[in-house]
Amino acid sequence: MPNFKHVILDDGSSFQFESNDLQFLRDLGNKINAQDPRGTQFPMFVIKQKVKVYGDSSYCSEKERREDYDGEVCEKCQRILDEGGYLPEDCNDCDDECFVYFNWEDQIVENCGSFFTAEAAQQHIDQNYYHYTKPFTYAIGSWRNYELQNVLEILSKFGTGLEAISQYK
Ligand SMILES: [Zn+2]
Repeated sequence: MPNFKHVILDDGSSFQFESNDLQFLRDLGNKINAQDPRGTQFPMFVIKQKVKVYGDSSYCSEKERREDYDGEVCEKCQRILDEGGYLPEDCNDCDDECFVYFNWEDQIVENCGSFFTAEAAQQHIDQNYYHYTKPFTYAIGSWRNYELQNVLEILSKFGTGLEAISQYK
């Protein structure tokens, strides 16, 4: 049988927690209080990854071969192809049409949502890294997001280290 804790509100209504739930909130509160807020008030953590954003060669710093290119390549590259090898990503002798230009940009991964702790975000990366390109954790703010600020404050109070709560005041 789970061990229930009853909580009675000022309006007389009540609800109950399982001890496991309370322990979870305490542990989460402790983690929130102890973690590095990365200079952000009320931080939440998201995962960002690098994505290729294609564009004009005048403002892109990276280039790669067009996958759909089936025209001619330079003599040197043709020899590589004839020998069954892989073409180099860059070649000054090949025609410019062989290439596309891009920049690496940071993009938030949206489908996994945000995390209360950087630790949980990092765990998600460790377990799902093969879905992402160069993923990393990133702190986002909760500016004027009073609902979320309130939740973070409450979670912070579930933790034990009272002095650490000050980051939320
Ligand atoms: Zn070439």
